[in-house]
This record gives sequence, C-alpha cells and structure tokens, in this order.
Amino acid sequence: MPDDMVEAHIRGVRNALAAGWRVLARGGAALDAIEEAVAVMEDDDTFDAGRGSFLNRDGRVQLDALIMDGATLRAGGVGCVERLRNPVRAARKILSESPHVYFVGEGAENFAAQHGIPLCANEDLIVAREVQRLRQYQAEANSHGKELFAPSSDDVTISHDTVGAVALDRNGNIAAATSTGGTLNKAPGRLGDSSLIGCGCYADNDSAAVSTTGWGEPIMKLVLAKWTADRVAAGNLPDWAAQEAMNYLKQRVSGHGGIIVLNAQGQFGIAHNTPRMAWAFKTAEKEGAGVKRER
Ligand code: ASP
Repeated sequence: MPDDMVEAHIRGVRNALAAGWRVLARGGAALDAIEEAVAVMEDDDTFDAGRGSFLNRDGRVQLDALIMDGATLRAGGVGCVERLRNPVRAARKILSESPHVYFVGEGAENFAAQHGIPLCANEDLIVAREVQRLRQYQAEANSHGKELFAPSSDDVTISHDTVGAVALDRNGNIAAATSTGGTLNKAPGRLGDSSLIGCGCYADNDSAAVSTTGWGEPIMKLVLAKWTADRVAAGNLPDWAAQEAMNYLKQRVSGHGGIIVLNAQGQFGIAHNTPRMAWAFKTAEKEGAGVKRER
C-alpha cells in the first residue's frame, strides 16, 4: 500500500466497520453485519473488490467472494463473476436460498439475477487507475521478461487489496466473508483463495471466523483459513493463531498476506507479514484502525 493510499484505506475500513456495527448494535446477526461491511468495501474503489478491482490479463474485472455462517456452517460462494457490483450479496443469496454452495461465471450471474440482484456491465467495475496499472505492469513484463503472474514473494510492490470481515453477534454466532478482484494480470478464469472454503474464508462457532488476503496460490495450498481455525479449536488464542498462520505461510510456501481471526468468545487476532494491511475493529469497550498491526 503506497503512502498516498493509506488515508483512503483507513477511511474505507472505518466505513465498513460502521456499517457492520450498525447491524450488530440493533441486535442483527453476524452474517448480516459482515455482508454489509464487505459490500461497503466492494463499493469503495480503493480496494481490490467490486468496482476498482485489479484487472485480469484481458483487461476485465473478474470477482470472487465467499460468505460463511459459523452457527450452521452454511456457505455461499461465487467465482469469476464479471457483472456483479457486490459479489458478497450474490454469495449471501446462495447461502440463504440455494441447496448449493458455489456458483461460478455466468451461472452465478444468472442465479443472482433470478434472485433480484441487478447485473451491471463489466466496464462499470473498471476504473482508470487500474487500466493504467495493468498497462504499466504488462509493459514492464514485456520489456524485462518479468515473470507474469508469479510474482516473487519478496516483491512487496505487488499489493493485495482483498477485503474481508468477521463478526460476533449477541446470540454468540460468528461469521466471515471475503471478496476480491484477485491478482493483477491474472489469467482469465483463474480463481484465488478468497472464495474457497477454508482457504480465504472460514467460519465455525466451534473454532473461529477467519478471512485472509494475500497472494492466493500459496494460501490455497495451505488451506490457511481452516488451518488457523483448527489452531483456535485446539485451544489457542486467535491472536496467536493469526500470527502463526502468517509465519507458516512465509516459512512453508514463501507466501505473503494478512489474516483476521475471531472466536465466539470475542477474542480476535489481526496479523500480516506484508509491510502494511488496513484493519479496523470495534468491541463494546474499544475500537481501533490502522495499516500496521503491532503485536
Ligand atoms: N487473495 C487474493 C487472490 O489471490 C488476492 C488478494 O488478497 O489481494 O485472489
């Protein structure tokens, strides 16, 4: 995250937090709170989710999202959708109204449309900043023979701006959601970790609600969200599990990213092994936001 984007990120996560908190404060469900929080960040073109997402190799936006309910383990996911402003809302419809868990591409868009979600044009999701970013990336790749789509884990200039939220409600239920435009210059049809259960997102009242961001391929290989939730189920604090997950990601597969973890007792962890990651939290007693999480 470059310096000139720090303020926009903090504003963005604070807005998302406020939207989620409004739901919880009136006694709403964690599932509704995270849907609202993520939708706010999808609408904010600061982030790599919804409008303003990174472009794929063909200059199109392709979005993935997952939402999961820790009380029932119901989940809804969409992958490679191109005509949805808020993939998290389509994912929520799948969770609530379909016997299936996962829809991709046109099938996901058709499902969303049939359930009252208007479709948009792909162009509506594209912003000039990202057209420029893709052009520059592809030009550099051509001139320097830079490895396309397999950035080195040390290349911290490649940002990852996936959004995610976790929440605990008054009934003691937790939930998680993750939404992304994926990685810059990805091959069309490529799916990352974000919308895969247990990789970029997971929620179970018996363990934890987890959302991850970062280079998706390494995260998928470790099924990292579930790995982390299992550590919490084994009796570890979410704060420790979050940090351990980042160490494991780095050590085992040279991956980089960030993670948020919350258990049904309201204990939480925020960790990243990148220089920065925007985060915000609120509890009945305190709240905070930042772009660097110090332990
Ligand atoms: N994890 C996402 C992906 O690989 C990217 C990100 O977090 O920014 O699709």
